[in-house]
Amino acid sequence: MDFTESIAAYKEAKPLMPGGVSSPVRAFPAVDLNPIYMDHGKGSKIYDLDGNEYIDYVLSWGPLILGHADEKVVEFVKETAEKGTSFGAPHVLETKLAELVVERVPSVEMVRMVNSGTEATMSAIRLARGYTGRDKILKFEGSYHGSSDSLLIKAGSGVATLGLPDSPGVPAQLAKDTLTVPYNDAERVSDVFKQYGHDIACVIVEPVAGNMGVVPPIPGFLEELRRITKAYGSLLIFDEVMTGFRVAYNCAQGYYGVTPDLTTLGKVIGGGLPVGAYGGRRDIMKQMAPEGPIYQAGTLSGNPLAMAAGYMTLSQLTPEDYPEFRKKADRLAEGYQAAAKKYGIPLTVNQAGAMMGFFFTDQKVINYKRSKSSDLNHFKKYFAAMIEQGISLPPSQFEGVFLSTKHSMEDIEKTIQAAENAFKQIAES
Ligand code: PMP
Repeated sequence: MDFTESIAAYKEAKPLMPGGVSSPVRAFPAVDLNPIYMDHGKGSKIYDLDGNEYIDYVLSWGPLILGHADEKVVEFVKETAEKGTSFGAPHVLETKLAELVVERVPSVEMVRMVNSGTEATMSAIRLARGYTGRDKILKFEGSYHGSSDSLLIKAGSGVATLGLPDSPGVPAQLAKDTLTVPYNDAERVSDVFKQYGHDIACVIVEPVAGNMGVVPPIPGFLEELRRITKAYGSLLIFDEVMTGFRVAYNCAQGYYGVTPDLTTLGKVIGGGLPVGAYGGRRDIMKQMAPEGPIYQAGTLSGNPLAMAAGYMTLSQLTPEDYPEFRKKADRLAEGYQAAAKKYGIPLTVNQAGAMMGFFFTDQKVINYKRSKSSDLNHFKKYFAAMIEQGISLPPSQFEGVFLSTKHSMEDIEKTIQAAENAFKQIAES
């Protein structure tokens, strides 16, 4: 494959932006390759500046559940843009998207739109602290909830990829209020609550972890979090920025039947435009300004174009899409396992709806420690071999692999064949 244009574009960008990028993992820090500059996408495919075509499993890191440039989404965004790009005043598309969110997300009675997942989680944490009058929060090692100060402690995603567990610039005073325990370890949560329970404002959890690779909750874990938080008067926040409308039609909380107090959303609800949201119980949400005293605001929040893309995305999703995702994910898992076995490559596959995690390890991956047991050299070789065969994957072991409604069984079979070739190369190297 020829990457001449991508190499030239990166050379131009590097002196102008840190790492040449607007978000760290896009610079391919873990795979020692020149980042690929994308030009356009359609359906399950994405095309780079050099004209190379890829089956895309990054999907803009999750939002594009209908694939790239879905016709109805693009049409509605265009139509909306003709009427103006921002008003700084209420408009009905916000209400229409809010209606869909309230209808489909079991915990959400009221919702506030923001511009990113980071803003959603940061604001939900403030709300939990304001509502309970407590400062401490509990999160899980290797979980990522965006890049706000309180949540950048033992984080996953790019922070894990770059090996920066605790970022400089986060005040120690704030960091000490973020308690962390391993994912899927309810016993440790219970121990921490015995010590600090009445000072803990909230537990924030990805109901399926997606930023240490994809790691579903073990049976009873989410239920235990619900029980413990309730017993201590702490709030339970499900960060469904990644899982929302991806794991199931009614989000992970609908699928697992555990209802948190607050939920954060992003990615799919913006259909590829910048949107985040947080919502939950009415009595808690009513604490937000202007109804209550807790402040949060945004010049572009509820932006019409973003609401249009989100509304048209959620409107097109149906409950029937999720068994279809399951079928594709099952086939990918089965194909990968067979190929790995053939070449003696250790491989564990985790699945949750339209999200998957492939780990180069024999261990069952239930937490960040296990995820880190993956062979990162294998990952590097696998990633490079897949790119060469026209398969675009997230460039890190610690990221999820995503499916869209537009991925065909033919795409899936091509991907399995490419993985088999990649595993052969790894075995022979
Ligand atoms: N929470 C989770 C679970 C996420 O996966 C992410 C982003 N990957 C965020 C929050 C932050 O969202 P954003 O990048 O839109 O700020």
